[in-house]
Amino acid sequence: MTDFLIIGAGPTGCALGAYLRKGGARVTLVEAVEHPESVVGESMLPCSRVVFDELGLDTTGFLKKHGAVFCQGDDSVRFDFSEAEDPVYTHAWQVQREIFDIRWRDVAKAHGCEIVYAKVTDCNVSEGSLETTAGTLRGKRVIDAGGRSMWLSQRLGLRQGDLRLKNSAIGTRMTGVRQLGLDQPGDITICSIPGGWIWIIPFGEGVASVGVVMSPSCPLTGSPDQRYAGALALSADARSRLADAERIFPWRGLQDFTASSTTFHGPGFGLCGDAATFIDPVFSSGVLLGLCGARMMAPALLDGSDAALDAWQATYREGGGIFRKVIDHWYCGDFMTVALAPPRLQKPYFRRGIVSLLAGDVYNPARTSPRRMADRMGELAAHLRTMSSAPQPTPDLDEAK
Ligand SMILES: Cc1cc2nc3c(=O)[nH]c(=O)nc-3n(C[C@H](O)[C@H](O)[C@H](O)COP(=O)(O)OP(=O)(O)OC[C@H]3O[C@@H](n4cnc5c(N)ncnc54)[C@H](O)[C@@H]3O)c2cc1C
Repeated sequence: MTDFLIIGAGPTGCALGAYLRKGGARVTLVEAVEHPESVVGESMLPCSRVVFDELGLDTTGFLKKHGAVFCQGDDSVRFDFSEAEDPVYTHAWQVQREIFDIRWRDVAKAHGCEIVYAKVTDCNVSEGSLETTAGTLRGKRVIDAGGRSMWLSQRLGLRQGDLRLKNSAIGTRMTGVRQLGLDQPGDITICSIPGGWIWIIPFGEGVASVGVVMSPSCPLTGSPDQRYAGALALSADARSRLADAERIFPWRGLQDFTASSTTFHGPGFGLCGDAATFIDPVFSSGVLLGLCGARMMAPALLDGSDAALDAWQATYREGGGIFRKVIDHWYCGDFMTVALAPPRLQKPYFRRGIVSLLAGDVYNPARTSPRRMADRMGELAAHLRTMSSAPQPTPDLDEAK
């Protein structure tokens, strides 16, 4: 019998397994898909690198990502990760998931995890048993790191859909994608359109992941090709970048992907990564949250007490909560109002706060700017909108009580 049975050998499951092995535990990962596919989750954030480095992930060949470009109407703005508050890491990578996920499995194996290729079909967490297509497996605790289906959370009645975010997405891979003057090679581009946004994640040599996220208010309808064409019609910037692009992969559709679990642990089980909670992808936070969640969860699991797991859960939720607040600001337009503030109205903390968020610096209590920006972005955006009629001094978050 193993100590920890982990459902899913994605980035979260492999990182969790590797950290648990470092702590001396026996770990078995159960993975349904032997050959990883080109799934979404391709744009990494710099603060994930602490986990990459600690566990020895091979990043050879991935395109370095130094920043992000946001476009809306005729305006665009670029943020460079070097502008964050006291940055430790100033770049991340854009990763093809079919390669990235294999490398995570290599990490897990190098740390001594066993990987069983089988689909989990049933479980009894109080007995620590999993029914799989390869037979029954037993462990002292079952952890679900099996991704957005939130399989265990659903079974235990813990999954709660998000009341405000009911989005859907289509995504593919394209060739012939252009970068424009403002971009540095490797930047992600996010183009805001009414009720949604377009992502362009370059992998080099004109190849990129391209997709459209649509909220219920988004006017796009029809087949994926029709929705994509409709999205391009709404964004001159995306049109320029994708004018000569050709689709090389089939469209994938995803929907209603924002949800969370009422608790992330209980007798005999734990949940981590998307299997515990997934917010919206606009800030590419998914893999970062899963990896940081795994890094913090491993010592709590090794401790084994409810107090340790409660403390982990509170910290894990708080980091995701910072992104969650800014995602609301994205969908109501406040984020772009602040991001595109004219230079005469800007203060250094605008960019510092935004870039620290974009870098994923949400688990370091010493970094105050992401929290402050998340808490006060609405107020700042409202102020900026009124400036044209009645100019007033821009509030200073650094002096905020
Ligand atoms: C439209 C969209 C765009 C996104 N873009 C980004 C982005 O740019 N950057 C980013 O960081 N995140 C992004 N994400 C989120 C990202 O995809 C996830 O947060 C990330 O993949 C979570 O990693 P994970 O290891 O928790 O789960 P997963 O990567 O989903 O891994 C779960 C693993 O569990 C296995 N599994 C599932 N069920 C079973 C079972 N029953 N038995 C055995 N094995 C099983 C699966 O095969 C898989 O290998 C995006 C999400 C969406 C919806």
